[in-house]
Amino acid sequence: MGTTQTIHTIGVIGAGQMGGGIAQVAAVHGFKTLVCDASSAALGRCRDGHTKRLAREVEKGRMKDTDVQAAVGRLHYVESLEMLKGADIVIEAIVEDAKTKRELFAKLATMFPTQILASNTSSISITEIAASVGPQGHPERVVGMHFFNPVPVMKLVEVIRGLQTSADTVTRVTNLAASLGKTPIPANDRAGFVSNRVLMPMINEAFFAWMEGVAEPQHIDEIMKLGCNFPMGPLRLADFIGLDTCVHIMNVLADGLGSDRYRPCPLLKQLVAAGRLGDKTQRGVYDYAPSAPSMTASSTGHKSAAGV
Ligand code: NAD
Repeated sequence: MGTTQTIHTIGVIGAGQMGGGIAQVAAVHGFKTLVCDASSAALGRCRDGHTKRLAREVEKGRMKDTDVQAAVGRLHYVESLEMLKGADIVIEAIVEDAKTKRELFAKLATMFPTQILASNTSSISITEIAASVGPQGHPERVVGMHFFNPVPVMKLVEVIRGLQTSADTVTRVTNLAASLGKTPIPANDRAGFVSNRVLMPMINEAFFAWMEGVAEPQHIDEIMKLGCNFPMGPLRLADFIGLDTCVHIMNVLADGLGSDRYRPCPLLKQLVAAGRLGDKTQRGVYDYAPSAPSMTASSTGHKSAAGV
């Protein structure tokens, strides 16, 4: 195992909200960054997102144009896993589905025999993902690196140590997170770790409150903002995270913690079934389409609550 190998090149699999954000931060912090996605449309959106967000950094005076150009030059968008060859670490940020992640890690085990394999999973067991590389595939190099959305802004990386993860792997990704300007904090491998075990049941409960007619969505959000000093309400946050991701996480909590109190709210599941996934489809709890009417004065900038 090349455990002492220095990290120069970072491979990111999944060019969605999280993978795109991780890749941006890696490139800005000087790493050659290879971003891979199964969908070429997703790669295109990722590249456009980088161009737009990095240009805004220059406009706001937070980055120099020359630094942005250098970061852009370090970003490479690739359509196959083979093209990630040369990466010193691979960070996976694909869909929150255990079977899909296990299949991917089984492939990565042989393609990247010595590199650290990190998952940005929100809730899925790192021990289970690590087992998919097999005993010969060095499960001790599989670790959780849980970034937060939006990655360029949020400081935390929850570092998850699976049952077989080595101390050396934990140290290396902790150091990497710090060199990306983040604050790494360790957590053990239980469903949802710390962040989503605490956060996601609250979001799910907000959907139950809405479903039971306790209050309108915008009022639920305003109550939680003003009453608990949250920067955004739980339903707005659910749209931001992605309602499909919220359902996946609740299912993992229900299975992993073995309690019915974690079952995803039927209304949340129904919105996902309707294809209303939140910001990424421009419609979830709220409507973000450019033509949607704006909400009242206390709005956080989102559009009207979309009817159900
Ligand atoms: P997303 O839907 O925005 O992006 C997922 C991307 O993965 C898509 O572009 C899809 O084409 C790609 N993909 C799916 N299967 C693939 C495969 N087998 N190979 C290559 N690419 C594949 O999702 P996201 O919000 O970026 O979430 C990604 C991961 O990050 C999930 O595990 C999620 O739980 C986790 N996460 C999400 C958030 C959040 O707030 N959204 C926060 C922390 C962690």
